[in-house]
Amino acid sequence: MTGTTLDDYTDRYARRVRGMTASEIRALFAVASRPEVVSLAGGAPYIAALPLDAVGEMLNQLAAEQGTTTLQYGIGQGTLELRERICEVMALSGIDVGCGASPEDVVVTVGGQQALDLIARLFLDPGDVVLAEGPTYVGALGVFQSAQAQVVHVPMDADGLIPEALELAIAEVARSGRRAKFLYTIPTFQNPAGVTLTEERRERVLDICERAGLLVVEDDPYGQLGFDYEAPAPLRARRRDGVFYLSTFSKTFAPGLRVGWILAPHAVRDKLVIASEAQILCPSAFAQAAVTTYLSTMPWRQQLKIYREVYRERRDALLAALADYMPAGTSWTEPGGGLFVWATLPEGLDAKAMVPRAIAARVAYVPGTGFYADGTGTGHMRLNFSFPPPERIREGVRRLATVMEQETAMREVFGTVVGPTRSRRGQAGADVPGPDLA
Ligand code: PMP
Repeated sequence: MTGTTLDDYTDRYARRVRGMTASEIRALFAVASRPEVVSLAGGAPYIAALPLDAVGEMLNQLAAEQGTTTLQYGIGQGTLELRERICEVMALSGIDVGCGASPEDVVVTVGGQQALDLIARLFLDPGDVVLAEGPTYVGALGVFQSAQAQVVHVPMDADGLIPEALELAIAEVARSGRRAKFLYTIPTFQNPAGVTLTEERRERVLDICERAGLLVVEDDPYGQLGFDYEAPAPLRARRRDGVFYLSTFSKTFAPGLRVGWILAPHAVRDKLVIASEAQILCPSAFAQAAVTTYLSTMPWRQQLKIYREVYRERRDALLAALADYMPAGTSWTEPGGGLFVWATLPEGLDAKAMVPRAIAARVAYVPGTGFYADGTGTGHMRLNFSFPPPERIREGVRRLATVMEQETAMREVFGTVVGPTRSRRGQAGADVPGPDLA
């Protein structure tokens, strides 16, 4: 097919591809990676905090001394050695043998992202409803959109998902004759909102889902990145049935290795493995060996502490800069861990319309619309604090505040903000996640 145009392909696409649109802001992010731009947009961990020489030596040995297995195919579920180490990692958060966690029920995945995709493959038919926090992780929206599912958002406040709102949403979905399959939730140090579901609400949310016959998909990449307090125990530590626990080494070790996992109810484990084999045959044997060796021979608990300390300092820098520079009427969350702050702009400001002007002023963020399936969220932005050093964070917020003040002044003169006030994409058009949206 030489000389074909885009149109020649368009009418051949599967239905699920129709909603796969790259957002307009992606092009801007290409510019945002320039060194002069302070990017508060990404979700990248601060890899320079790792002992890179020691990690390099370890990787070298894995190839030189164990290459005949580490560079070979592996099994679909992932190696037993890694699944055992994963159980030790989960036990730190309270998911232990006492609550039925066993290496047998762990499926190793290519990051948390493949874990999400497997869950969608197993449970979502076109038209099914997924309940999810509003806002929620952009990469999960992309997965649910590919599955042609509909996302119904449930609002949060400073204490996380609001149980009463969850009950209302469940009732509303049932009334409309649709089928909600599961609640997708990031209860701890949420991406993008930075809030954490309280102890008391965890029990209520689980009870509500149980009563409604809803599965719970608990996504927990950040639970071990608490700065001020230990996070409340995960949902999976409280219920063994009906809860899928997803996590990843992307934020606690290194995202470049692409290793995550699902702890699944026993009855479902085989189906997940079959689905994963159809997708990827097996997770990378080399990456699994790297994580296993890291967890067996290197001071990973100490490394967790280092990450927490670096991020606490950066979180503090971001909160202080926001307090010092943000115009009146701006509010923001104060995360006890994780990588993100969620800011709410003064009435009338549109974070999406403002992106080009922010980038021209050499600061980048992700507008709130990226985190909703329905294009709402224009009055919000996500700010990342894990990657830029404290002084860059401060400078970025200073630039951002200037842009917001100019924007407000323009509104006063022209009566309206220039640019789109609503995302062009509809329910089925979640942003395809790119590195800046992670
Ligand atoms: N879930 C959430 C909530 C995330 O924030 C991310 C990454 N930012 C992922 C899943 C996927 O992470 P990865 O594939 O790198 O493990």
